[in-house]
Amino acid sequence: MRKAALYRKYSDFLAGYFPYKVQKLPVDGGFTCPNRDGTRGRGGCAYCVNRSFHPSYGKAGLTITEQLVRGKEFFAGQYKEMKYLAYFQSFTGTYAPLDVLRQKYEEALAVPDVEGLVISTRPDCLPDEVLYYLQQLSKRAFVMLEIGVESTDDAVLRAMNRQHAFAETEDAISRAAALGIPVCGHVILGLAHFGTLLAHDEAARLSKTPISSVKIHQLQILRGTKLAHLYEESQQNVNKLSTFCQLGFHPLSLAEYLDELGDFVSHLRPDIAIERLVSQSPSDMLIAPRWGVKPDAFQLLFEKHLTENGLFQGKFY
Ligand code: SF4
Repeated sequence: MRKAALYRKYSDFLAGYFPYKVQKLPVDGGFTCPNRDGTRGRGGCAYCVNRSFHPSYGKAGLTITEQLVRGKEFFAGQYKEMKYLAYFQSFTGTYAPLDVLRQKYEEALAVPDVEGLVISTRPDCLPDEVLYYLQQLSKRAFVMLEIGVESTDDAVLRAMNRQHAFAETEDAISRAAALGIPVCGHVILGLAHFGTLLAHDEAARLSKTPISSVKIHQLQILRGTKLAHLYEESQQNVNKLSTFCQLGFHPLSLAEYLDELGDFVSHLRPDIAIERLVSQSPSDMLIAPRWGVKPDAFQLLFEKHLTENGLFQGKFY
């Protein structure tokens, strides 16, 4: 029986920075996205519906300060000592002129007990001037970037209308890490039908980058997305050769996802922290897959899967 941890948890990574509990507070900074406004593309990524990003305590029209104060109230009393990270999660959190970014980030850091920023963005929205500014900021606050990798396979990125290649992701991660800014990579499993790489290939390619952590989740088909349109079309008319039918696409079953995730994690560099294993979108938005398993229960299932199959993070790295 393996006594060491099966995988490196994000709490372990954060413990290297903070001697107390820190909670990320999602905040809508009023950003848009270059894959929606026409700068890189229109219509967005095939799976994206940004409404799924909004926190339960959030409210349109609130300032950054008001959102963070509400967020703090929501989590108040859960731990004896707790600090916060402002999490710019919605759309592309570095997609604005530098003076606008500075004003938004500084507003967040001025809220008492907000000790840092986690900024979600695209790899093609990190020019050097923004990274140099974040490097300066990181001398007085925790700063972490969350970059949408999604896949390391260019065929998948094209199929999902990402409008960037993996080379841009590698470049952004390398430039940020070289300046001492830790990077989390956001990864979606369940896209292999659209490309040529399997989960272990994706883990191996990501492991070659100086990434600090990953957030992984299953491909979800959400209402109102391009993916939903294609999927529903293929379901309603199986005789019509839609893109999905031709590719033999199906949303992963729970057992298939456990296998893919085990394959990914066992090929992932051991020092990369894993922040998330699965996602759970609101029921009214989710078309498929509908497993009915909450994230905490999924974590137990995954740990059982690893143990029963003799797997652990980095076993095949
Ligand atoms: S997933 Fe991110 S990059 Fe893609 S359309 Fe949505 S906000 Fe833009």
